[in-house]
Amino acid sequence: MSYPDVLLLIDGVWTQSAAGRALTVLNPANGEPLGTVAHAGREDLDRALEAAEKGFRVWKKISAYDRSKIMRKAADLLRERADRITPLMTQEQGKPLAEAKGETLAGADVIDWFAEEARRAYGRVVPARAEGIYQLVIKEPVGPVAAFTPWNFPINQVVRKLSAALAAGCSIIVKAPEETPASPAELIRCFVDAGVPAGVIGLVYGVPAEISAYLIPHPIIKKMSFTGSTAIGKQLAAIAGAHMKRATMELGGHAPAIVFDDADVDVAARLLVGAKFRNAGQVCVSPTRFLIQERVYEQFVDKFVAGAKMLKVGNGMDAATTMGPLANARRVAAMDTLIADAVRHGATVRTGGNRIGNTGNFYEPTVLTDVPLDARVQNEEPFGPLAIISPFADFDGVIMEANRLPYGLASYAFTRSAKTANAVAAQVEAGMMTLNHMGLALPEVPFGGIKDSGYGSEGGSEAIEAYLNTKFVSQAGV
Ligand code: NAD
Repeated sequence: MSYPDVLLLIDGVWTQSAAGRALTVLNPANGEPLGTVAHAGREDLDRALEAAEKGFRVWKKISAYDRSKIMRKAADLLRERADRITPLMTQEQGKPLAEAKGETLAGADVIDWFAEEARRAYGRVVPARAEGIYQLVIKEPVGPVAAFTPWNFPINQVVRKLSAALAAGCSIIVKAPEETPASPAELIRCFVDAGVPAGVIGLVYGVPAEISAYLIPHPIIKKMSFTGSTAIGKQLAAIAGAHMKRATMELGGHAPAIVFDDADVDVAARLLVGAKFRNAGQVCVSPTRFLIQERVYEQFVDKFVAGAKMLKVGNGMDAATTMGPLANARRVAAMDTLIADAVRHGATVRTGGNRIGNTGNFYEPTVLTDVPLDARVQNEEPFGPLAIISPFADFDGVIMEANRLPYGLASYAFTRSAKTANAVAAQVEAGMMTLNHMGLALPEVPFGGIKDSGYGSEGGSEAIEAYLNTKFVSQAGV
């Protein structure tokens, strides 16, 4: 299966970097080179910035009606091209073909949603205190945006920022992931082919820290958006703060998944196995701390472990595979370290615990129990195929444990009691909670965290607000 040498997009032209530098892209299923990705230097970034400023002047003058039409065309192109883009994503990222196709098609839905929102970036008229006065609240695009996206969802992480920015009338420079560059480049090609004018979208790759340190403070950039780890997010938020730039931060999580003893344990175990091992657990909203009420604890552990053992780990290109390799060798090392540390602290390995083979980044779906709270994995985001299951006695105790960490992104709960459902939704400190089913991350609903998991929303009607300024105009008749 062929894989392209991925180029930068600057001022509407697909191009090598000015210095001709490129990075190698590796296949996580076998460690072999797939192709290359152009590596932007300062000269490329300066050209991308100049183009973004020019692109902004053009794009903000195009009516929301016409921007919406162009975006819908991009969504249609993405759907048409999904079968060609899917294997690129699987080769570079590792996830099974079915997941890669789902992500690509979901990307088209995200574009359509924001295309609709483009036409609904309403202002309002505030009643005045005197006759003949009109008080207008007007929404305007913030300006050129810099977006930084990670390798776990190469299309999804880009499409949310890109679509919201374009819907609002902003231009955008995307610093997409160097390890998974081809599928986001194909996403952006759909927008270019749909008729987005030159300069409105820039695409760069390179050394992330160098690019963010240059773009965020740059006077042309008016807003930044980052998805990635909390540690890096705090650094970038500090840069944004120092330069008074608007910022959206989608950071790490360590999601509690609470199963009360009145829940349907079979359903809970089945849904949570699916959610845990999707994308080999490399998901910011992945359930990670499984908190199970004592009476159903052993039953849940047995069912969850049985479900984990059913997964077929293999090359994502093989249609039978249900869990691919980890996306990079860093995750394999992280799994080894976290599991060894937990075992040293007294954890029991119920299944998995090891790398599979020595070629590619394959890892066993792993379930740990009896993990003390001072083990690293109880405190650090595992970001891999690793579940830790612990029993709890009562409601207050489980709420305390759910809220123990500084993270607050996703949360999950299972109960048949409406009273418990209401109470758990009210008391868990998280940006998102899904009860008795898996219901997160649709384009039309808010997506974001609180506490150390960041701020801002990348879904729902809130998402476009981050790309809009509010201007107040008070007008008297003459
Ligand atoms: P990392 O923390 O170095 O990088 C995470 C992401 O941030 C990558 O996409 C990287 O390119 C980018 N990045 C790093 N430094 C940057 C900088 N100074 N400026 C701009 N972008 C920068 O480590 P990693 O090994 O790639 O990932 C490890 C951890 O990152 C995971 O354990 C997980 O916690 C987190 N992560 C979160 C998400 C998410 O969806 N929230 C996605 C990927 C990784």
